[in-house]
Amino acid sequence: MKISGPKIEFNGNQTKVSFDIEIKNRVQKLFFQSTYPIAESISESCDAALVGLFLPAMYGNEDIIIDGMVSDRLLHGMNNVIQDLIIINAPTVYNRVKVTRSPHYSDDNEVYEQTRNQNSIAGFSGGIDSWNLINDCLINKSSERLSHILFSNVGSKMIGGEKLYMERLGRIVPIAKKLGVELLDIRTNLDSFYIENKPLWYPYTGQIRNIAVGLLLQRGISRFYLASGSDYSKTRFGNLDLSYIGALIIPHFSTESMHIVLQGAQKTRLEKTICVSSIKESYDLLDVCWRYPIYGSTEFTNCGQCGKCMTTLATLEAIGKLDLYANQFDMNAWSKVRDRYLEANRSKNDK
Ligand SMILES: [Zn+2]
Repeated sequence: MKISGPKIEFNGNQTKVSFDIEIKNRVQKLFFQSTYPIAESISESCDAALVGLFLPAMYGNEDIIIDGMVSDRLLHGMNNVIQDLIIINAPTVYNRVKVTRSPHYSDDNEVYEQTRNQNSIAGFSGGIDSWNLINDCLINKSSERLSHILFSNVGSKMIGGEKLYMERLGRIVPIAKKLGVELLDIRTNLDSFYIENKPLWYPYTGQIRNIAVGLLLQRGISRFYLASGSDYSKTRFGNLDLSYIGALIIPHFSTESMHIVLQGAQKTRLEKTICVSSIKESYDLLDVCWRYPIYGSTEFTNCGQCGKCMTTLATLEAIGKLDLYANQFDMNAWSKVRDRYLEANRSKNDK
């Protein structure tokens, strides 16, 4: 795999960043684009493309050559700790590959030193982990405060397409306003490099794909907060879902200009849900469902019947906060599965 770029284009309010990706003598475009003013934050490096594509490269046993600028720190992390951890985690799925920089760009890391700043950003989807991050880094943060939130489509909004993406983005606009942070959005075709490979499925690799989008903005933003999908006590090897090793692996994606921070792993899902239920802005948007973002629905945000919906609904009910979120879920669907779900979990806990 050869990564070249980036090419940065402006068209009205749109900014488009593209990389040429050569795989087995065929060149494909990897692109990121935004309708928000991100031009000054766009990194001239290939870091975003490298982080976005190294998992498909390890899966396909393709060495990576970067024909462009790349962070020394990231390159070191990629050839040492990151690949080590991924191979220990799933040795039959991933292969060790060589990641090298084209000699034309060997000593060019000055740009990383020049672009330090105080801006910080967090990926935001409206789920429990995202809202907990908003609590920790914005609402109850006494020192550094988030300056931006980022909405992106690295793979979770597959079948609903552009219409669903714009609808979800539109709902975050008033939330960002209420919270007093700038909203940025980035659309990308990154998912097209993953889609046919089941071990690379979005729920398993989404966290790392989000880091790629964050690194695209490292020229203007120095800290990227990533909501933890697991807690420290669940850290373990042997699960294709890479969020189980998130606490070990994520800091190693940091570069000289952007610090990647995993936030929220100190809390369990229950503790996060309790915390989120006291944030009044979350009553307007809570998006926990894995099914509707993929298959689409215009009526409700959450299906009320997938695993994530049922866990959240049962918790909200137990802590007496369900009414506050009733318009966010298909409550009719939940009522059909509620008793069975609670009974199954009661028997599980009794064992
Ligand atoms: Zn659901």
